[in-house]
Amino acid sequence: MDYFLTDEQKMIVELGRKFANEKIKPVREQYEESEEFPWPVFHELAKSDLCGIYIPEEYGGFGKGVFDFCLLVEELSKIDGAMALAIAASALGTHPIIHFGNEEQKKKYLPDIASGKKFVAFAITEPGAGSDVAAIQTNAVKTDKGDYILNGTKCFITNAGEAEIYVTIAITDKTKGIRGAGAFILEKGMPGFTFGKKEKKM
Ligand SMILES: Cc1cc2nc3c(=O)[nH]c(=O)nc-3n(C[C@H](O)[C@H](O)[C@H](O)COP(=O)(O)OP(=O)(O)OC[C@H]3O[C@@H](n4cnc5c(N)ncnc54)[C@H](O)[C@@H]3O)c2cc1C
Repeated sequence: MDYFLTDEQKMIVELGRKFANEKIKPVREQYEESEEFPWPVFHELAKSDLCGIYIPEEYGGFGKGVFDFCLLVEELSKIDGAMALAIAASALGTHPIIHFGNEEQKKKYLPDIASGKKFVAFAITEPGAGSDVAAIQTNAVKTDKGDYILNGTKCFITNAGEAEIYVTIAITDKTKGIRGAGAFILEKGMPGFTFGKKEKKM
């Protein structure tokens, strides 16, 4: 049922459906088996300007909402759940930057995400904190210079190996429990930032 969709939203559905059928369907088995990240598919997606639907126009996106983006993810999911999750998880990590990032951070990160050049990961889960997310142990300590040093381990992070930007949740004030948590933007290559083994697909 799509009677309540605007013409623009119907167009997103059509584009998403066409993309999924033409670009994902023929290669989904291959990527499922090889467990490679389907970069060629995402480069195609970027060309179709679909990566930045939910990113404000001033940062290179289309300025649409979460619902519009969900319409795209829904169409991709009908053909391949894993590829749809990759782009959805990137959006999950991007929203904290859109809503709570400062101007410098938005200008630095959002255009590359909107253009599909960079993927984002959202890292909250830890070996001892899954459903009980308030149990996270990763902490962030402010240095004399005003920046932060993070210590901890995250797991099951979608896009982890392929992303360039990591929105990571860490505790800045243990006395406040989970209310003492903050979000930090990490970049691949930062000193001390290492990766564990790649998990097998479920
Ligand atoms: C495909 C996939 C992608 C993911 N991507 C990300 C990501 O991008 N970023 C990220 O931070 N995390 C990610 N995760 C992690 C995900 O958020 C956690 O797996 C989830 O929070 C559950 O945690 P857990 O796996 O430790 O399971 P647990 O919390 O240990 O749960 C194990 C089982 O116990 C049950 N259970 C837990 N607590 C209770 C309770 N109180 N009462 C009754 N039953 C309970 C659960 O329902 C479950 O069946 C991903 C996970 C998957 C599978």
